[in-house]
Amino acid sequence: MKALVNTGPYVLQLQDWPIPDYGPQDLLIRVKACAICGSDIKGYSGKTGRRQPPIIMGHEAAGVVEAVGDEVKGFRPGDRVCFDSTVYCLHCEYCLSGQWNLCSNRQVVGVSEGTYRRHGAMAEYVVVPHWIAVKMPDNLSFAQAALIETAAIGLHAANRTPLKLNDTVVVVGAGAVGLVSLQAIRLKGAGKVIVTDLAEPRLALARQMGADVTVRSGGSDLLERLREATGPEGADAVIEAVGVQPTIDTALAITRKGGALTLVGNVTPRVELDLQSIVSREISLYGVCASNGEYADCVELVASGRINVDPFISEYARLEDGQAVFDRLYKGVEDNLRTVFVFD
Ligand SMILES: [Zn+2]
Ligand SMILES: [Zn+2]
Repeated sequence: MKALVNTGPYVLQLQDWPIPDYGPQDLLIRVKACAICGSDIKGYSGKTGRRQPPIIMGHEAAGVVEAVGDEVKGFRPGDRVCFDSTVYCLHCEYCLSGQWNLCSNRQVVGVSEGTYRRHGAMAEYVVVPHWIAVKMPDNLSFAQAALIETAAIGLHAANRTPLKLNDTVVVVGAGAVGLVSLQAIRLKGAGKVIVTDLAEPRLALARQMGADVTVRSGGSDLLERLREATGPEGADAVIEAVGVQPTIDTALAITRKGGALTLVGNVTPRVELDLQSIVSREISLYGVCASNGEYADCVELVASGRINVDPFISEYARLEDGQAVFDRLYKGVEDNLRTVFVFD
């Protein structure tokens, strides 16, 4: 099979690899679409330590079942499927308590980080255990389905955030996860939703997806402009979907006393937190790791049109152009949400 292999820092080679072996519980999937995640773009540089070469990346994908393992029930060759990126074990303490995203034996498709190597979907075939796969409704395209993994994180962020009907919510960062969070908190019954981002095109998308107010960040008066929208006390809940110092500061400052701050962005691994502001104002912090059971829900929500992921597809590409596409995206100058590799 053709595979786009990360063979060293900043290097991607289109190589001929054997079709992967699959176990009794696995699906062998012929890949039809695979999106490039921001973590892949950072990962191919070698700096994150989570794409140790050689690795076939790609954890946001969909395709057609080519073959199933002996013990697999519920899937057969020809099924159109998409799959979550977290491979969980089903028998550790966390899995048994339904916290699959926190599985002690957690692996991620398309990631190699020292203790394991699990090849992903930037190749003609990929193998995943059947319990992370979901059958696709007929009206869902492969490219749309490739975006479900990301969208499910936005759903999980919304699920983690305690919300009452008519609450005021601020979403910081209008990337794909922030924009899905926005739509999900709308579905949960938020009253007023305010979105802030640096890029006006993303704010336009946010308005299209149901934001009541958008506030362009940058400028020293950002907090005042946000408070004009939330009221002087700030927001009942804030979802932070960027993860750099200035956006974390903004998110905390606009959370009202007793409010909730949900942290899903983590661009920089370490930031400073205003401890006094959290302690003395009794802010509740919620971390968000991938998704936990929202993947299948997300398939239905996207297929039924209640969550819109279509505008996240910025462009389509071919595996053959992988090196050039990654080099371009790594420079990060474009306002690109998702490039999707498509296959014949
Ligand atoms: Zn991803
Ligand atoms: Zn487990």
